[in-house]
Amino acid sequence: MSEILGVFGGTFDPVHFGHLRLAEEAISHLGLSGIRWIPAGRPPHRGTPEVTAEQRLAMVLRSTAQNTRFFVDPAEVEAERTSYTVETLERLRTELGADQALVLLVGADAFSGLASWHRWRDLFALASIAVAHRPGFPVEAASLPRELAFEYSARHRPNAACLGEAPAGCIVSFAMTQLAISATQIRQLLVNGQSARYLLPDAVLDYIQLHQLYRNA
Ligand code: ATP
Repeated sequence: MSEILGVFGGTFDPVHFGHLRLAEEAISHLGLSGIRWIPAGRPPHRGTPEVTAEQRLAMVLRSTAQNTRFFVDPAEVEAERTSYTVETLERLRTELGADQALVLLVGADAFSGLASWHRWRDLFALASIAVAHRPGFPVEAASLPRELAFEYSARHRPNAACLGEAPAGCIVSFAMTQLAISATQIRQLLVNGQSARYLLPDAVLDYIQLHQLYRNA
């Protein structure tokens, strides 16, 4: 089996240390060769982000530049239409081939909403899924919507070995350093004129200040 590539999508509005620790710890806990960060262009699950997709991409590029295992994929930002994860994974499959082991990285909150994603059942044929624990969001079948709980129970494996045994199809969870940081919290702090320092990289905060982002609710 080939090396295992992580795929990390998100709005990253803005990117923060919760995202960066998730990615860093996924590499070591799951044995990934690297992670493709894929900022969403026009996220289907949310209203218009408060900054442009290009600015969110620029912040992800700044925060990941020093890490040789992190790669940033601008395709969703550059696309004209709505970004769906299933289509992004299909594109990666075409690019990387049927044998490449792919793992979609999601936080526990995002995973619990998976059954609302476009063509969500097709995701399992395209990638495995690794769910990172997040404060306030338990990862267990009992707390998931019924159809997702069914898939979770069928596909969940107790350790990461399954990720390298097949290109797609299993679900694992992993405990990361618990950081109750969210982009929502950061946006609120900035709108209120309060400090968001030490919740996100200085390079990102400098960019936000330079471009005067997140000033209005
Ligand atoms: P918002 O507050 O705007 O909803 P967010 O902080 O959840 O944003 P996203 O860009 O929506 O950030 O998240 C991208 C991915 O990172 C999702 O899978 C999400 O679950 C995960 N994630 C974000 N913050 C954390 C965190 N502190 N711990 C674990 N996972 C996280």
